[in-house]
Amino acid sequence: MSAPAPLASLDEVIARARAAWRPPPKLTLSQWADEHFRLSVEASAQPGRWTTLPYQVEPMNCMSDPLVTDVTVMKSARIGYTLMISAAIGYFVDQDPCSILFVEPTVEDVKSFSKETIAPMIRDVPRLAAIMEDEAEEKGPRDSGNTIQGKTYPGGRLSLVGANSGAGFRRRSCRVAMFDEVDAYPASAGSDGDPVKLGKKRTEYFWNRKHFAGSTPLVAGLSRIEALFLAGDQRRYFVPCPHCGAMDHLVFRQSDKGGHYMVWPDDKPELAHFVCSANGCVIEHSSKRDMVERGEWHASKPFEGHASFHIWAAYSYSPNATWGQIAAEFIEARRTRETLRTFVNTTLGETWTEAGEAPDWERLYRRREEWQLGTVPAGVKVLTCGVDVQKDRWVYEVVGWGEDKQSWSIDAGVIPGNTSDSAAWVALDELLSRRYEGGAGLVFAIRMLGVDSGYNTQEVYHWVRQQDRQRVIALKGSSTAQAPLIGPPTDVDVLRNGKRFARGCKVWPVGGATAKTELYGWLQLEPALETGEIPPGFCHFPMLGPEFFRQLTAEHLVSTTDRKGYTVHEWQKIPGRENHWLDCRVYARAVASVLGLDRARPRVAPPVPVPVVAAALAARPPAAVVAPPPLPKPKPSTDSRFLGKRSGWLSKR
Ligand SMILES: [Zn+2]
Repeated sequence: MSAPAPLASLDEVIARARAAWRPPPKLTLSQWADEHFRLSVEASAQPGRWTTLPYQVEPMNCMSDPLVTDVTVMKSARIGYTLMISAAIGYFVDQDPCSILFVEPTVEDVKSFSKETIAPMIRDVPRLAAIMEDEAEEKGPRDSGNTIQGKTYPGGRLSLVGANSGAGFRRRSCRVAMFDEVDAYPASAGSDGDPVKLGKKRTEYFWNRKHFAGSTPLVAGLSRIEALFLAGDQRRYFVPCPHCGAMDHLVFRQSDKGGHYMVWPDDKPELAHFVCSANGCVIEHSSKRDMVERGEWHASKPFEGHASFHIWAAYSYSPNATWGQIAAEFIEARRTRETLRTFVNTTLGETWTEAGEAPDWERLYRRREEWQLGTVPAGVKVLTCGVDVQKDRWVYEVVGWGEDKQSWSIDAGVIPGNTSDSAAWVALDELLSRRYEGGAGLVFAIRMLGVDSGYNTQEVYHWVRQQDRQRVIALKGSSTAQAPLIGPPTDVDVLRNGKRFARGCKVWPVGGATAKTELYGWLQLEPALETGEIPPGFCHFPMLGPEFFRQLTAEHLVSTTDRKGYTVHEWQKIPGRENHWLDCRVYARAVASVLGLDRARPRVAPPVPVPVVAAALAARPPAAVVAPPPLPKPKPSTDSRFLGKRSGWLSKR
């Protein structure tokens, strides 16, 4: 017995009725781009119609998909990301008008993006030209609301903002926030805080808000784009082996994590090909286009509103990104650490990891320079000091800072004493009163000293309270991996009614991971082979003993997997090593930042040391000096900028 053909269920009837009333579907971003987007001569070697490449379709359509809030693209160069994001701007202006915040690393970047990409796009994409023309006609040419950093259109405004300027984020709210090259953003937009957080905050009142972030990644553990990629569903582009059909993504090196991987015969990069991860089939470059056309994105984590993508140059159709070309670039790049790092970042689209690569202490020991310990070489502008507190001793380093963040170790040592006894801290008064001779009759004092408050905290505060607040600060290591080098200070002396002591002690958070990553990069530097030129950030050392160098290089960055399966990068002590002088250097560096080292523009003025007139010192013997003589007021010209006495965080205290 056969049942009669079933009548449509009530649900189906309702669904059909709903469908009939739905407004015509909007185009997806890739459909819109294929139909309306045009490449300008300024933005492309092949101006004219745009065709969305197979691997671009899904990231672009996620940008226009109402179910996706966050889209992250961690990428190499040469995959067309700038054009994808430009098309996204055009799409929202035309199809889904709303206010857009677009953030580039600096105000200068924003200006050139606006002139070289946005203006030509408005000129060359007919739909956008028409919209902007109508807007201009309606409001009159004088009041079209169009400037380099802002474009108005019916239903919204595009605001172009530099991540280095806090002011740009204080404007009105927006529904879509786009962050370009996030790894090049400063830790803080002016003094307003993290630029990505500030940008996202602008969107918080929209239920249908969107955040797009794209970047070439930089250093592992500090990379914003990698953190965002890991927070999303981690999609990689899988392509079929042309011989056996095995689907996998393309990777540069073979690893236990899988992926069709690249190989080439020695010295023959032009013969580079991929090896199929399933059956070892040889995949020739001639198969690339066909494979990419049949590729698909595979996520490795569940989707929870955040789609994240990784894509690199091996998928590129660009004629200068053939597999042979990539192999040749690698052979060229591996000659120096710096070029290899650039290759890993911009060709592989991966972060550069210092893992297992603590600088070699013996190399630093061998390249010590012959100046007398405790004297100040030419080039030093200001001295800072970092102090690490142990149970039975203080460990300190006095560091001289010069142009381009070059540094000189001036004095390093250990002061024995019971650090839980407040009276014993007078030993640090002596350290603070030390004077260091430079050339030409100049005498340097420690401009500012930072002491760790993580151990014997109350004794630290007690000593700091008694000191000149312009010369001594309490520091505390921050455990957050991406914490900036130095954060705004917090009050530790609070009265019972919750009010602050005007003269209370403050503690400044120090981003240890950030400082160590920077320092270890600097410790890898060498003077230029041919010219002998000293690179920015170079660290000079006098004839200190081997233990100093062992401690300075006692940690390495380790990548581990946390309980949720996310990769985390963590600084860890190498077993058997002590790391106190590393901490001292981190604190001395943080103090230099408080004084304005990171605001100093490189190579603009000749080095100006802090002169303490020798005659003034001779009047009383240094040993008897308890309170140091006041430092001369910095001249308002070049050195006040460097000393930062009345600028930045200092002025806010
Ligand atoms: Zn195969």
